[in-house]
Amino acid sequence: MPDRAPALPALAIEPHPARVSDADRADRIADPGFGRIFTDHMASAVWNTEQGWHDARITPRVPLQIDPATSVLHYAQEIFEGMKAYRTADGAMALFRPQENARRFNASARRMAMPEIPEALFLEAVRQVVATDADWFPGVPGGALYIRPFMFSSDVRLGVRPASEYRFLVIVSPVGNYFRGDPTAIKLWVSRNYVRAAPGGTGEAKCGGNYAGSLVAQAEAIERGCDQVVYLDAIERKWVEELGGMNLFFVMDDGTLVTPPLGGTILPGITRDSLITIARDEGLTVREERYGIDQWRADAASGRLVESFACGTAAVVTPVGEVRDGDSVFTIGSGGPGQLTQRLRQRLVDIQYGRAPDRHNWVESIG
Ligand SMILES: *Cc1c(COP(=O)(O)O)cnc(C)c1O
Repeated sequence: MPDRAPALPALAIEPHPARVSDADRADRIADPGFGRIFTDHMASAVWNTEQGWHDARITPRVPLQIDPATSVLHYAQEIFEGMKAYRTADGAMALFRPQENARRFNASARRMAMPEIPEALFLEAVRQVVATDADWFPGVPGGALYIRPFMFSSDVRLGVRPASEYRFLVIVSPVGNYFRGDPTAIKLWVSRNYVRAAPGGTGEAKCGGNYAGSLVAQAEAIERGCDQVVYLDAIERKWVEELGGMNLFFVMDDGTLVTPPLGGTILPGITRDSLITIARDEGLTVREERYGIDQWRADAASGRLVESFACGTAAVVTPVGEVRDGDSVFTIGSGGPGQLTQRLRQRLVDIQYGRAPDRHNWVESIG
């Protein structure tokens, strides 16, 4: 186990007076889907200029009451994280690299002119809400508790400036597979009308606004029979960056992996980083270098490129089968899951579910 950040005193706990019944809960988690159902409790804390962070507690998950002039509703000063709790082979609950989520949350906070939260508070809130609602763990294949820490400006004021009050919350959603029907490979739509991020923008922050801006492109993708959007860089409209919520990898016929380099416009995925490490542990070469859309098409046609996959906490490792760019389409490999993609996915989930040695101390037990 990695050294844990110094534990805080336990958060104040207000247990739910009327938890969902065992039968009802069993019913809801039998086919959870993704992000549709939620557990009984949440964690919360408040920051203001006078007191800093305070009032950290675990409470029943209830609707928030907010004033119509609350600034987040107008100016979208909001950041979030996405992480999962797994049930390991020995029956314990475990988090995967949670400290990385805490660090990235604070990096997002800095970019959005929001206060940083002590890593220990972030981690303790996550651990305690998961421990409180552990009986919501779905037993379905690929099941996990998806954890959503987030923070927003809660000032009641329409002036545009950093707020003097923020709220931090952690909610938990029992989930199965991200893509309904667990497709063997997804189809991507190359966005030529929209970009996700530009240099100097907010692309490397996990902020809600990035997602708001991506929905129209996602609708275009669905209209064209695709599952997800692949974005190109904003300047040359040439370099492949990532999907709306997942990073991308390319597998060459000599077994090397290529993934676009981080550089301000790409979200630094923890899954991306973990897969780079796992691949290098296996002796594979991983190059973080720019890869053009025209090269991708040419390499897929010539056979130099044999596989492509997307990755992230929500979707784990998802093979890319087809890429549609305007009226042209190209197929990746056989159009189904590639061998190396499958192997890396298996290596990753075996570590997450405690079935394989945890060489890098990535797994932290809760309980
Ligand atoms: C969250 C996210 C990812 C994946 O990050 P993980 O840490 O692997 O879950 C990739 N791209 C975008 C745009 C994201 O928001």
